[in-house]
Amino acid sequence: MPDKYVFFFGEGEADGRADMKNLLGGKGANLAEMTNLGLPVPAGFTISTDVCTYYYQHQDTYPDGLKQSVQEALEKVEKVMGSKFGDAENPLLVSVRSGARASMPGMMDTVLNLGLNDQTVQGLINKTNNPRFSYDCYRRFVNMYGDVVMGLRPESKDDTDPFEEILEKKKEKHGIKYDTDLTTDDLKELVAEYKEAIQKHAGKPFPEDPMEQLWGAIGAVFGSWMNERAKVYRKLNNIPEEWGTAVNVQSMVYGNMGDDSGTGVAFTRDPATGAKELYGEFLMNAQGEDVVAGIRTPLQIEKLNEIMPNVYKQFEEISGTLEKHYHEMQDMEFTIQQGRLWMLQTRAGKRTGFAAFRIAVNMVEEGLISKEEALLRVQPDQLNQLLRPIFDLDQKRSAIDENRLLAKGLNAGPGAANGKVVFNAPDAVEWKAKGEKVILVRIETSPEDIKGMDASEGILTARGGMTSHAALVARQMGKVCVAGAGDLQISYKKREFNVNGNTVKEGDWISIDGTTGEIIKGHLDTKPSEVLQVVIDKSLNPEESQTYHTYQQIMKWADECRRLKVRTNADQPDQAETAIAFGAQGIGLCRTEHMFFGGERIDAVREMIVSDESEGRRKALAKLLPMQKEDFIGIFKAMGNRPVTIRTLDPPLHEFLPHSDEDLEKLAKKLDVSLEKLKTRVEALHEFNPMLGHRGCRLGIAYPEITEMQAQAILEAACEVKKDGVDVKPEIMIPLVAHVNELRRQEKLVRDVAKKVFKKYEIEVDYLVGTMIEIPRAAVTADEIASVAEFFSFGTNDLTQTTFGMSRDDSGSFLPYYVDQDILPRDPFQSIDQGGVGKLMEWGVERGRKERSGLKVGICGEHGGDPSSVEFCHSIGLDYVSCSPFRVPIARLAAAQAALKELQKES
Ligand code: ADP
Ligand code: MG
Ligand code: MG
Repeated sequence: MPDKYVFFFGEGEADGRADMKNLLGGKGANLAEMTNLGLPVPAGFTISTDVCTYYYQHQDTYPDGLKQSVQEALEKVEKVMGSKFGDAENPLLVSVRSGARASMPGMMDTVLNLGLNDQTVQGLINKTNNPRFSYDCYRRFVNMYGDVVMGLRPESKDDTDPFEEILEKKKEKHGIKYDTDLTTDDLKELVAEYKEAIQKHAGKPFPEDPMEQLWGAIGAVFGSWMNERAKVYRKLNNIPEEWGTAVNVQSMVYGNMGDDSGTGVAFTRDPATGAKELYGEFLMNAQGEDVVAGIRTPLQIEKLNEIMPNVYKQFEEISGTLEKHYHEMQDMEFTIQQGRLWMLQTRAGKRTGFAAFRIAVNMVEEGLISKEEALLRVQPDQLNQLLRPIFDLDQKRSAIDENRLLAKGLNAGPGAANGKVVFNAPDAVEWKAKGEKVILVRIETSPEDIKGMDASEGILTARGGMTSHAALVARQMGKVCVAGAGDLQISYKKREFNVNGNTVKEGDWISIDGTTGEIIKGHLDTKPSEVLQVVIDKSLNPEESQTYHTYQQIMKWADECRRLKVRTNADQPDQAETAIAFGAQGIGLCRTEHMFFGGERIDAVREMIVSDESEGRRKALAKLLPMQKEDFIGIFKAMGNRPVTIRTLDPPLHEFLPHSDEDLEKLAKKLDVSLEKLKTRVEALHEFNPMLGHRGCRLGIAYPEITEMQAQAILEAACEVKKDGVDVKPEIMIPLVAHVNELRRQEKLVRDVAKKVFKKYEIEVDYLVGTMIEIPRAAVTADEIASVAEFFSFGTNDLTQTTFGMSRDDSGSFLPYYVDQDILPRDPFQSIDQGGVGKLMEWGVERGRKERSGLKVGICGEHGGDPSSVEFCHSIGLDYVSCSPFRVPIARLAAAQAALKELQKES
């Protein structure tokens, strides 16, 4: 049994403190803290969350002694305020406010002016000499009490509010527009009419006894903890039911006492931009929620400086005091009563990612927090807001108001893009060449769409998840992508899509927001990120950009703290350059198959596939060799002395062949083979489960000449670049190894080629041969594999597929349900399944390093850019993570957080 249920605050002294949020709720704890700081806070008391717990454990009753404690606290408040609760001459009025640990919509609304009845209102009139004000308070109180305690509210969203209805009638009758024009008599009548309505609807009279009012309101707060809205909110936000809510009872101050009174809300900094200036709104001659309710348009907080300079100055000081005290941006409520300022609430302010970063950096510079605190306070994913182009917010809002929001999909590739709709990759390329901006709209994408994706401003798909091909490639390219917008009905034939009653045709403008998943009809202006203007385009001077300054500080501090290295997944020199600008320390995955598409290459690749003799294949591969070599030279040059991991061919060969009769016919002509032979070959390559079929190292084993050609291209490129003075570090990576013997064979091929190449070039290059660990068997036999492999890279996309026995591309029909039903806590393709896939990784690292000490281990799956997965990779001792170029900064920050959290745990 706790010995204290009621915590007083007032006159510079409080029983509670800020760190007692669990017991007092956020509001109560901070009211106590502000009181202790000597700030002007109207006196009051908090009934603790223990009482809420008790209430629910004991059939809605209160613990013994609570009434007594409340009575005593009330007397203390009375003493401080010099008035008496329920007194007809000099009444104390209070507000009753709910307050959980975390602010929670769905909890009971605040009741203001509690304690008024037909007698006490006279006392208020005597005290204030202001009958109009007094009756205004009274009618507001009856309204609020009737609503939140006695349940008189509109039953559905189409019904009108019963009190509003009465009020509107009254205004109509007297032909007035604003509440402020109501006379004292009008207000008096309203009180009576409200009470009648309560009697009629609730079947109970409005309680005249202030004590009954008080307990009614307290009971309503505790009761609201278990209402449906609160329950739903708790479930969504993982707030445990046991927490309970506290109740705050606080003496009233009045912002509606005339033109020298007012009320408002303000942030200590701008919550949208993070700029260090008061940001808020207020209304003169108004009470409580009038500011947010939008009855009158509030004024910007700076205006207060003109109206009441002294109050403004005091408020500015308080705002500074609070920030210094909490080391955090605050969101405050205040009321001015006849020229005197009162603080009614403070809490950490919500903010955009943009603001979060700027505030964190500024606070370090102001000496308020340490670098480490700053790094831990921001969310790595929110870095996107600093990097990606954004829509003009006002334009977007009005577009949505005009019903131009077509649908929402998954926010798969952050940023904002606009363009004309095209429905296939060749059109995208063609339109782009004509100078058009396009958005590529596909049911889903496949590797052959790469060129078209590259030509587009953004990609929109109707199918596929956050790790679908479209999403993956878009992120690697830094393209905006909205994926899996299931409402879209796309007709490639008609070149249009239908969505929720709208038809969008080829050539129509759309705008997609890959940060939110919104798809908007028409053209919205975009703004490029300042960070990119500085880092990539070099079109903006770093000194001129606040955003860049913020970004660069965070990255600098992150690099000082992290242990994990960060590499990138890149297949082209331009991607590599972007990644370096973002701080990549190497390439963790270069997918050579992406180099097999486009122009003449695909013809040579197809010729190679169609030949049934090794001889024919070699001939075709010889055509590819110089092209692959050029690619690698470009990448090595871009990467300089940083390591570059290149994976040998991975996808099944049929992915490179056309499938329609028409295309097959064309190809047969081109290759000068019979259509029949071509078709037979295509059929032979057909597989039931390509994901588990003839792919990865199985290709290089069946067709050693492919691996040989690739090794030759890589190593010749390396030799040439080395001759130009670059200290290249190629790492050749064999995919999909399950058994050490597979790797052994491929390794031998590579080493033999290397000998020849080095001889030919009369120069040697340091290179490594390693493997991907993406089959459970490889992880389990990591020691055997490490006897050959000089490095490991966890291919966690495939490792997740093979560990779960679940095809990523087919998981869309059940995986979302699994996550929704908590069968799986998260989508394992987005965030590493630490209990299963992660165990294999841990085992693999341990076994691998036991066999080969200092074995270099990294990860190159999509998980490499997921902050919680990065943290996991840190914890199992990986050397690096590799992710798409635009996620490199995010991974750097996540790696720093991982290191800092580890330190915190140790200490
Ligand atoms: P919420 O959590 O919805 O913000 P609050 O309890 O903070 O609810 O109160 C709602 C409004 O009533 C706020 O504008 C607050 O400042 C005002 N208010 C609450 N208590 C008092 C009081 N004692 N005197 C004057 N205004 C108050
Ligand atoms: Mg509030
Ligand atoms: Mg793989």
